Amino acid sequence: MSAAALQARRERAQQAARAKGVDALLVTPGADLRYLTGYDAPPLERLTCLVLPADGDPVLVVPALEEPAARAGPAADLPLRAWQETDDPVALTVSLLGNPGRVAVADQMWAEKVLALQAALPRARFVPGGLLLTPLRACKDAAEVEALSEAAAAIDEVHAQMGRWLRVGRTERDVAVDIERGILATGHERVDFVIVAGGPNGASPHHAVSDRVLRPADTVVVDIGGQMPTGYRSDSTRTYALGRPDPQAAEEYTVLQAAQQAAVAAVRPGLPAEQVDAAARDVIAAAGFGDLFVHRTGHGIGVETHEHPYLVAGNAEPLVPGMVFSVEPGIYRPGRHGARIEDIVVVTETGVAALNHRPRDLVEL
Ligand code: ZN
Ligand code: ZN
Ligand code: ZN
Repeated sequence: MSAAALQARRERAQQAARAKGVDALLVTPGADLRYLTGYDAPPLERLTCLVLPADGDPVLVVPALEEPAARAGPAADLPLRAWQETDDPVALTVSLLGNPGRVAVADQMWAEKVLALQAALPRARFVPGGLLLTPLRACKDAAEVEALSEAAAAIDEVHAQMGRWLRVGRTERDVAVDIERGILATGHERVDFVIVAGGPNGASPHHAVSDRVLRPADTVVVDIGGQMPTGYRSDSTRTYALGRPDPQAAEEYTVLQAAQQAAVAAVRPGLPAEQVDAAARDVIAAAGFGDLFVHRTGHGIGVETHEHPYLVAGNAEPLVPGMVFSVEPGIYRPGRHGARIEDIVVVTETGVAALNHRPRDLVEL
């Protein structure tokens, strides 16, 4: 992201702070800091903290030994305040705030840091930073959609090679090692997760990998994702069959494919998020498999793999152009098998566009 784009984000966060009566936003290392400054700082016991007042200039508080790293990246144009090993970084941070009434702290700030800041500001009221940042991060601009498209194309390339890796006689773990190498070879900078769930393991949606050996007729759920050098993430699932699957699994898959397609087709601006979930769930329930679809239909994705909006019953928030999320219904038959199809999609002005493009059929390898 360009320095101008990052500055525009900070200005939007400041506008949100003024609108919500928040005097300052404090952000420690994590996705929010990267979103606002481009700085991918390590989350350490030593305090690094962006101080973003509702009015005025931001300041980045950093441990002195992290200063060269901070200056080497996109945060270099921010005013930095380095603290030495024997300084009190909480006192330094608080000294930049004046006498705030309401302070927002990053949703994922460590409790020890929140508690120290609260102790140093006994009269301030603390609120979650998500109050300001969730709506900003949920709605992607063109550069972010481009970054997420690149991530999706990279993970599609990994799925395209699955025929070389996923074979009868190998363990899930063997296959996962190849996939991890593939994730890095296609332009990701980090592997976020690799799920290779063969046969009965496929019935556990967040199974990782095991030493189970893949067998003929297994269906295998492969859900993989990583982080690109831009900070944006990929996340895509395909289900493969090692030869002809059992008829029950094949029947469920046909229903699943229709459900996933119906949910994607439903996406458009103004639709309540929960209606995307309903579109998938109605198809699966109508076929009699409703009890086997045990999770929400999707989640937003950006600088984190799971972020707002969540496509789940009860979330009536309307979709808006620029939202990017997964559509990933699944059908899980305990003890037997499972299947999931997951694409990342973007809400456009007129409807929807998928960012993943691999075939969605049950691919027989
Ligand atoms: Zn998941
Ligand atoms: Zn996934
Ligand atoms: Zn996902």
